[in-house]
Amino acid sequence: MHYAGGHKYYSYASAVLAVISAWIALIPFYDVWRIIKEILRVRPDFSKAENISRYGWEAVGFALLGMVFYIAALMCSHKAAFRVQANMRVSMMKHIMKLPLGYVEAEGTGKIRKIVMDSSASTETYLAHNFPDKAVSMATPVGLLVMMFIFDWRLGLISLIPAFIAFVLMGTLMMGPKMAEDMKQYQNALEKMSSEAVEYVRGIPVVKTFGQTIFSFKRFKLAIDEYEKWTLGYTKNMMLPMICFTTAANGIFAALIIAAFKLTSHGVTDEFVLNLFFYVIITSILTVTLMKIAYAGESQMLVDDAVNRMYSILETEPLAETKSGETPKDSSIQLDNAVFAYDNAESNAVDGITMNIKAGEHIAVVGPSGGGKTTLCSLIARFWDVKSGSIKIGGADVRNIPSEELMKYVSYVFQDSKLLKMSILDNVRMGRPDATDEEVMQALRDAQCMDIIEKFPEGVDTMIGSKGIYVSGGECQRLSIARAFLKNAPVLILDEATAFADPDNERSVQQAFERLSKDKTVIMIAHRLSTVTNADRIYVLSEGRIAESGKHEELIEQGGIYSRMWDEYNRSVSWQVRKAGV
Ligand code: ADP
Repeated sequence: MHYAGGHKYYSYASAVLAVISAWIALIPFYDVWRIIKEILRVRPDFSKAENISRYGWEAVGFALLGMVFYIAALMCSHKAAFRVQANMRVSMMKHIMKLPLGYVEAEGTGKIRKIVMDSSASTETYLAHNFPDKAVSMATPVGLLVMMFIFDWRLGLISLIPAFIAFVLMGTLMMGPKMAEDMKQYQNALEKMSSEAVEYVRGIPVVKTFGQTIFSFKRFKLAIDEYEKWTLGYTKNMMLPMICFTTAANGIFAALIIAAFKLTSHGVTDEFVLNLFFYVIITSILTVTLMKIAYAGESQMLVDDAVNRMYSILETEPLAETKSGETPKDSSIQLDNAVFAYDNAESNAVDGITMNIKAGEHIAVVGPSGGGKTTLCSLIARFWDVKSGSIKIGGADVRNIPSEELMKYVSYVFQDSKLLKMSILDNVRMGRPDATDEEVMQALRDAQCMDIIEKFPEGVDTMIGSKGIYVSGGECQRLSIARAFLKNAPVLILDEATAFADPDNERSVQQAFERLSKDKTVIMIAHRLSTVTNADRIYVLSEGRIAESGKHEELIEQGGIYSRMWDEYNRSVSWQVRKAGV
């Protein structure tokens, strides 16, 4: 209701209208009772029955009126439901924007997508349909009880016994904490399968390149198996309670027949036949109502689970926003014994790193995979906060710089930059939204992107991602360098792409990087050592610590990790040259 805002009154109105509709819908049954009564009264001369058609039309009228109220209830409930769904999505997206960037990566985009889209959609289904239906399911038995006791309390009471048994069965066997837990596990399995499906589809290019179809399918297959296990388990657990419940709910007729024999042992009166007819007709609503309550219980469990999942996002702590609001004096960077560990990790990904980078210096970070290079750079851009120690830009702790201010200071070019489904022009303009078309074009020229644009007939207005228009990894990185050109932040963090399909692209990216780096403080994660030889300083990171640091020549002389990496690198280059037959 908090997310419904002013629309919550529509929700309340829907419940009230639904209750009225439920009660009105019972009136036609009273008319049927009156028709039977009339028939019994005039029998065998049926021509004397004068009121039948009046009762009949009255029944039709009330049935229609009941529907009108129910439709009005649904209109109100939908208004509130769509508002809640939209508000929850907006709140979650706003909150995700404030979370550490790493959170999105760690949770997996498939899972987050499912929660933001599907869990919020469950609240819509619940509020739009199940909520008014629940009101109907509550109101109908009350109306029925009143009617049942008015006509023949003995038959009324007897028809309620199976209904009571069904109710108890439902409460104990079908909705206990065990069932809620099973439902949660089932939802978890569904979520896992959904997220694995997303990862699987995303990984198809890699999978195809390396011919690993079977291996990559394995995780997805495991998720499907897990889902199957929970689905079958849940269904089997539900089987017996459901059989008992359905039997009891439908057994009201049987109870009535037995009762009728017992109560008529001393003779049958017209009134008794009349009431028996009435109960046989009306108990069908009791059965339907009981089934509705059972399904309402299930949808309640589903929506509770969905709400919990949404709160798992909404309750994740965002990075603390500073109040002191410092601004960096320049683009120098100081790390003082910075330590960081991922949640649930056994060791620190960054384990006490101290660095002093002067404004305008070009730094390269190299080292074995998993050494902590990406984590270190993420900390400087404050995608995560350090666990201890500090990171300062221009003398100001990154935690004390307002996030918008910090983002003005730092550009981050990712190895796998993302382009959004919009024109090339708008994609690049994300670097600085108020840039003019001419400024965007200049950035594209600076980033050596003109050949990409010339390829497409629609030039810069080409929509990326539509009609099968995609760019290669290297082209994508050049476009994101253009973004960084436009942004022109004084601190530049570059994650060099590991592999390029063609050397032309590699050369263009290299040139673009060099132009972009001019007059900026640069930290570059280098995967190919050819690009680091000119760096002012090279840091070799291994197991989260600085193993070596210095200029290229100094490190070669030291004969440590770097010089071994350099030898290996040269061997691989000469191997490639030989292989190419050059
Ligand atoms: P590099 O960039 O040098 O390859 P990373 O900074 O990516 O190294 O990783 C450092 C360590 O942190 C590795 O052991 C890696 O497995 C771990 N790691 C990286 N990202 C995450 C994450 N999101 N959650 C948990 N552990 C992570």
